[in-house]
Amino acid sequence: MARFFIPLETAPRETRVAVTPETVKKFISLGCSIFIEAGAGKSAGFLDKAYEEVGAKLIEQDNEELLARIDAVLCVQNPSKDFLSKLPKGTIIIGLLAPYGNNLLASNLEAGGLTALALELLPRISRAQSADALSSQANIAGYKSVLLAASALDRYFPMLMTAAGTVQPAKVVVLGAGVAGLQAIATAKRLGAVVYVSDIRPAVKEQVESLGARFIELPEITEKPSESGGYAREVSAEFLSLQRQQLTNQLAEADVAICTAQVPGKKAPLLIDDQMLDQMRPGSVVVDLAVDQGGNCSGSKSRDTILRKGVKLIGASDLPCSVPNHASSLYARNLLALLNPLITNGALIINTEDELIKGSLISKDGVIRCPEVLLAGGN
Ligand code: NAD
Repeated sequence: MARFFIPLETAPRETRVAVTPETVKKFISLGCSIFIEAGAGKSAGFLDKAYEEVGAKLIEQDNEELLARIDAVLCVQNPSKDFLSKLPKGTIIIGLLAPYGNNLLASNLEAGGLTALALELLPRISRAQSADALSSQANIAGYKSVLLAASALDRYFPMLMTAAGTVQPAKVVVLGAGVAGLQAIATAKRLGAVVYVSDIRPAVKEQVESLGARFIELPEITEKPSESGGYAREVSAEFLSLQRQQLTNQLAEADVAICTAQVPGKKAPLLIDDQMLDQMRPGSVVVDLAVDQGGNCSGSKSRDTILRKGVKLIGASDLPCSVPNHASSLYARNLLALLNPLITNGALIINTEDELIKGSLISKDGVIRCPEVLLAGGN
């Protein structure tokens, strides 16, 4: 019978938890045992009592005797080195492990002889959709970014006909229309804004238009941006420079820019430079969701709001942590969807031939499986 441990997350500002009473119940019905650290779900609104009621056992993280018998750890972010060192060889760690260029993670996994699945690396195939934690969390980030922008903006979002006259709708420019960007578009539209969108993957145009937004055509250049497995590939400096020129006028007329453009494992593209910011209207707002990957907007700072010549630059990190209850519920369902097919009669069997496992397995019993990801100079 597989024994799962769910730690209280220790990363700064982390409020999510990897299981909810709903998923604990399901794991137990599959024949697994769930041990959860006391208080692990508190910040997401799931109390210890609710876990106990569905059959989980509460334990303390310093219960070394129990940790020595654990088969797998379900987490949101990377557990500490100290915690990993208490786990028996072969323990499986599953979570958003931030694998790109993470030498420290690699050495911890090697030292402990641990197996690890990084959810960031799940292949983007149809079968993986229900387990896709990047998408469930990006969706929340996209939604929350627009709410942040709306409350920071000095104008209304919707068009209003009032006795004092008509108010024009806000113009929102969304940069990057992946999961977060599409949700940002939908949320801005629901609030009544007029939305313009830039992305380098041509497939996105139709999705953007179906949400009622306008697609900004790509620069005329022989280089055609490409994609791999649903993700954009990095474009050249020349392409980016032309893209910025093209976006300058759109941004000069915008009230809000929502920046979500990313290329996995690479520095985020710089899409708003200082000259472009100089032309933005005082009172306008830029929300940069790519800030921790280097930022789409010049000068944005992680978890900070900077007032630059009247333009508010919001460095929006950790947005899913600001909606911890739903972020945890969706994340916990992602984990259940990934693990359910791997559990037979209560035993967890990591089938390394399975496409989803093959794609996300970064370490097997301490042997690093994809050094090009973990040891590369990622971001
Ligand atoms: P992401 O977070 O890596 O990037 C966000 C967006 O930024 C992408 O749309 C990308 O094209 C865009 N971008 C990159 N460089 C840019 C630039 N210079 N200018 C403007 N935009 C730029 O992407 P994501 O949100 O994780 O998803 C990417 C795609 O994968 C989406 O189309 C999504 O629908 C698809 N997807 C598929 C599955 C599946 O089939 N299982 C699951 C999730 C997502």
